[in-house]
Amino acid sequence: MAELSVGKEVLSRCNKCKLTLAHTIVTMKDAKTPDKVLCKTCKGTHSFKDPSAPKAKTSVNKVIKSGRASSKRPTESVGELWNKAMSKNTANAKSYSIKGSFITGDLIDHPTFGQGIVEKLIDNNKIEVLFQDDYRTLMHKK
Ligand SMILES: [Zn+2]
Repeated sequence: MAELSVGKEVLSRCNKCKLTLAHTIVTMKDAKTPDKVLCKTCKGTHSFKDPSAPKAKTSVNKVIKSGRASSKRPTESVGELWNKAMSKNTANAKSYSIKGSFITGDLIDHPTFGQGIVEKLIDNNKIEVLFQDDYRTLMHKK
């Protein structure tokens, strides 16, 4: 590689031309690093930007990615989910009893919490039920 010095040619990114172009070295930072360079295309003088170190490009990509990540859809509240589940369920509610047996999707009527939908079976004796105000874990098959 040719030695760099003032007056010699070097490839640098040019901010105005947005390209890697031949530049004339105006001043040197140290023996191997140009400081100010003159663009042969637009005749502008600016700091030397090493075209082999694409730092600017990666930081732009990161900004775009984090911007997308923060644009989350608002999550539905428990009440909204409950309303939706209730409107879909046309079956008669089963009265809840610890001795009863329930499956996912069952509509149940709880003496304390009111009507709810069985969201999932946690294990043999536990079900997760969506009530209007919250999810609750109930026992069954006891
Ligand atoms: Zn230029």
